[in-house]
Amino acid sequence: MSNSDVHATTNLSLKGKLALVTGAASGLGKRIAEVFGDAGANVVIADLKQADAQATADAIAKKGVKTMGVAMDVTNEQAVDAGFAQVEKQLGQVDIMVSNAGIQIVSPIQDFTFANWKKLLAVHLDGGFLTARAAVRQMIASKRGGSIIFMGSVHSKEASKLKAPYVTAKHGLEGLAKVIAKEGAQYNIRTNVICPGFVRTPLVEKQIPEQAQELGISEADVIKTVMLKDTVDAEFTTVDDIAQAALTFAAWPSNALTGQSLVVSHGWFMQ
Ligand code: NAD
Repeated sequence: MSNSDVHATTNLSLKGKLALVTGAASGLGKRIAEVFGDAGANVVIADLKQADAQATADAIAKKGVKTMGVAMDVTNEQAVDAGFAQVEKQLGQVDIMVSNAGIQIVSPIQDFTFANWKKLLAVHLDGGFLTARAAVRQMIASKRGGSIIFMGSVHSKEASKLKAPYVTAKHGLEGLAKVIAKEGAQYNIRTNVICPGFVRTPLVEKQIPEQAQELGISEADVIKTVMLKDTVDAEFTTVDDIAQAALTFAAWPSNALTGQSLVVSHGWFMQ
């Protein structure tokens, strides 16, 4: 059994809570939504396409919790506010919000187009702000507070070549989380950041050949000499590793755990 087959098992319960996860039709967001469903939460799947969001929501509904799929482009203020309003109407106010939607574009800085710079910052930073603002408004109105989780990255702490806007945005999310932790405390709103190492989701699978081409090395060497080079055991982080971290932040009941970032990366980055 490899390290990545070992999954933490916890008894943390989210029974009766309503969780909204963005970018939850794929990868990390999807697994987080499934694990939240297993822990008893009612779950909203927000993603670009209604059909993709609904398909994931329908699969999670089989666990016996309420689910809902919502089409929500997190870069669009109107779409985010309308999506949260629709959720409130159907299932009530959110208790947990995971701002997870993300994209990756790799290029040396001298070739990075301004359009791609803005596109990436919009998904990660505008998306983080808009979804967190909508969640905070509902958490204040419900008087229950709640937990906001941003999907950061080891790139919230470290830089890599070819990723100027991504590294900038992921560093920025740490600042946003710290501000919301301070402003939200009086409402019992907790805010934290998860910083994964490389996880083999579609976002990373797409990047392997792109980096190989940009760096002029083989795909195997991208994995060995770029992605896993500084890990303690040359292992990828898994969607389950990240979902368990999200469950811990989501279930934590007090402001004792707020304004923090947790790096889950097989030791690639050590605090
Ligand atoms: P993924 O491509 O599997 O999933 C991303 C999801 O986000 C997709 O379903 C996509 O449709 C959705 N999305 C993209 N733009 C959107 C928008 N404007 N509005 C709403 N939804 C949108 O990728 P993933 O690896 O699961 O990434 C999820 C998050 O984790 C991202 O924020 C990413 O930066 C972060 N992350 C990933 C890794 C990794 O190695 N996979 C490492 C660190 C951080």
